[in-house]
Amino acid sequence: MSEAIQAEEKEQAPVNWAVTAVLGLTFLTAITVVPWYGFVHGYSTWNWIFFGLFLAMNGIGIGSGYHRLWSHRTYDANSLLKVLLAIMGGMSLQNSIIVWSARHRIHHRDVDNNEKDPYSIGRGFWFAHIGWMLRDYKSGEVDYSVVRDLQRDPVAVWQDHWYWTLVWVTNGAVPLILGWLTGNIIAMFLLAGVARLVVNHHVTFFINSLAHMWGKQPYTDKNTARDQHFLALITYGEGYHNYHHLFQSDYRCGIRWWHLDINKWFISTCALLGLVRNRQRAPQFKVLRARLNMEFKAARKKLEQAGAGASWKEQLESEYAQFVEIIKQWQQLQMERVAQSRQKLADRIETERALLSTHYRELEFSLKMQRKRLALLTAQLM
Ligand SMILES: [Zn+2]
Ligand SMILES: [Zn+2]
Repeated sequence: MSEAIQAEEKEQAPVNWAVTAVLGLTFLTAITVVPWYGFVHGYSTWNWIFFGLFLAMNGIGIGSGYHRLWSHRTYDANSLLKVLLAIMGGMSLQNSIIVWSARHRIHHRDVDNNEKDPYSIGRGFWFAHIGWMLRDYKSGEVDYSVVRDLQRDPVAVWQDHWYWTLVWVTNGAVPLILGWLTGNIIAMFLLAGVARLVVNHHVTFFINSLAHMWGKQPYTDKNTARDQHFLALITYGEGYHNYHHLFQSDYRCGIRWWHLDINKWFISTCALLGLVRNRQRAPQFKVLRARLNMEFKAARKKLEQAGAGASWKEQLESEYAQFVEIIKQWQQLQMERVAQSRQKLADRIETERALLSTHYRELEFSLKMQRKRLALLTAQLM
């Protein structure tokens, strides 16, 4: 979208005063009244405990619930957990599950498309972060045709129906009652109510803005999404956004055990407790293939920059030829597996299945070895 068209659309898109007022007033209160009250009167331990607790509940409600459960269906949850996640996410005032997921699914489908992606980073940091909500842009219109499944999900439908009641009870009544119980209504409302809401908002908004600008692209450069450890820490794991955009049906965003993905740990803990089933993971081979593809690109660039000789290039290209060959073999295996699943002889299938999985593991191992060789090859160029 050219700048002229963007400016014209901005002219036409009416300001959404309700959203602007809520986001503006809560933000202004959080940076003025909240610290002032803290200096003058101070906040109690109870205020800080509920600030932290509600912040975590909102982060998990949005990350594990709105995002990984409803938008991407990366696992199945039992009804009790779903109701909890719907309340925890609804409390963060980011619209209902159905509306949020509809926009998010379009964001994945049309990522970086300035006309279709509701929060396309191509329209700048401000637009992707918050600007897209302040006006009723055409790209922000909710397309319910992409959430037909959620319109049949009883918990999502229930939450959509009672959304505003839920928002007022969790953001108004709950902090006020807790404040009354712990001896200071205003302090509890300011810290666990307003400040918590604003922190949750901007941390979530960073996924649409910063996570599409700042960080590495280890899996794909076909879109602007990035992986960034610090962002992952403050967003409960959502900051591994490059991986997520390529493997959106994976319940994990950070796939290594040490990756700071609190939502992944939350979902896994719920699985241990029997509240979660069918966690989806991307096949290890596909993950390795994506990584190697990017590493080959980087290696080629490095060779060129270093002005490396023909023998280096030959080595690299021979590695690449092997990579292509391994992928071909893997695709053949996939086809064999499909053909096999159509066969009816059960005992034959068992032995062949075992053979196939050995072959899969061998191919995965070949890719792992190749990554090591490639790393060695590029390290020698330093
Ligand atoms: Zn997503
Ligand atoms: Zn994104």
